[in-house]
Amino acid sequence: MLDLILRGCGLPDRAQPVDLAIAGGRILGVGPAREPARETIDVAGRLVTPGLVESHMHLDKALLTERISGSAETAAEAIRLTGAAKRDFTADDIGARARRVLDLAVAAGTTAMRAHVEVDPIVGLMGMEAMLSLKREYAPAIDLQLSAFAQEGILQAPPTETLLRRALEMGADLVGGCPYNDTDPRRHIEIVLALAAEFGVDADFHVDFSDEPEHLHVREIIRQTIRAGWQGKVAVGHLTELAALAGPEQAALIADLAAARIGVISLPLTDLYLMGRRDERNVRRGLTPIRRLLEAGIPVALASNNIRNPFTPIGTADPAHLTFVAAVAAHMGTRDLMRDLVAAITHHPARILNLRDYGCAAGCRADLVVWECERVEEIVMALPPRRFVVKAGRVTVEHHRRTVERWRSGGASRPSSG
Ligand SMILES: [Zn+2]
Repeated sequence: MLDLILRGCGLPDRAQPVDLAIAGGRILGVGPAREPARETIDVAGRLVTPGLVESHMHLDKALLTERISGSAETAAEAIRLTGAAKRDFTADDIGARARRVLDLAVAAGTTAMRAHVEVDPIVGLMGMEAMLSLKREYAPAIDLQLSAFAQEGILQAPPTETLLRRALEMGADLVGGCPYNDTDPRRHIEIVLALAAEFGVDADFHVDFSDEPEHLHVREIIRQTIRAGWQGKVAVGHLTELAALAGPEQAALIADLAAARIGVISLPLTDLYLMGRRDERNVRRGLTPIRRLLEAGIPVALASNNIRNPFTPIGTADPAHLTFVAAVAAHMGTRDLMRDLVAAITHHPARILNLRDYGCAAGCRADLVVWECERVEEIVMALPPRRFVVKAGRVTVEHHRRTVERWRSGGASRPSSG
């Protein structure tokens, strides 16, 4: 007995719709499904993709715009404004805001997420405790990877190193660094990678988040990643300074990233919002060079980063919206480039997060999205609604839409009043 059959799935690499037979949380077969199943849904040729992967999110400091009056002009100001708001955080408050964002993400079809949870002298381990409890609560709908993240620095904010270690002992899945916000970036990177090695986990850095190539800490990250033998287990977010390097220097650094198998996470809403603030004419876009990174075979993810706080005043937690923005912001408008953008919210972040058995093939985990469209590139072009979301072989979200175009019927279908 199967758990679920999805009939007539439009898979990106198939000419004709196929059935997906699902049991035990996995796709057992792709092709005509004849066995009985507890639930059978005919998706009538709609596009089916693997679940969306949000690779960089801050749940603990999301949805702060109502309580912070000032707006940030720079990343440093955003850190300062958010740091001040953080002093009033409570576990309940963090949990309530994080739940609102998780609900949005799950409804949009996100089935895996890496969240950076701030661990520092201001909040201590409160955020990590709240998030570990949410990880259990949301497990039926989404896999949460929690990064113990040193937003305030490590050396300039003791005892953060001790707190990071404690967070990893409590169950954090990886460790996150922020070398640009510390007194000794080289040592900061060393501490983060040493913790990653000690606990056998991945590392993820916020790095080179500036208009000009004034930090380029990524070079040190590459060097130390190779020295530690941690290739394929390190990711970097932002990396906007890479775009400011001249051609040959940029190409050399991209080749080094590829050699160290470091994944790159572009955060287009934050980067477009905070970069280029000193430009008076021809304001630059401030995105990492997504196309050149992809051409070098580097996994590139698009991620939300922040939802409505001083770093990013907007946000829906729907990864598809990032592809819509990136198509124009990163000049990716052909059919193939739009497919690359969809890979940047599915296959590429799955690789960066080291998710196992990800995809729509037999044997893969049955984490799926059924879209109200037929072609992959339509996700980017038109932001189609989702019809169903499936997590571990169970339908977790079902969307129904009803639009009544009253104008067409000349008012005849207007409900009677009185
Ligand atoms: Zn971030």
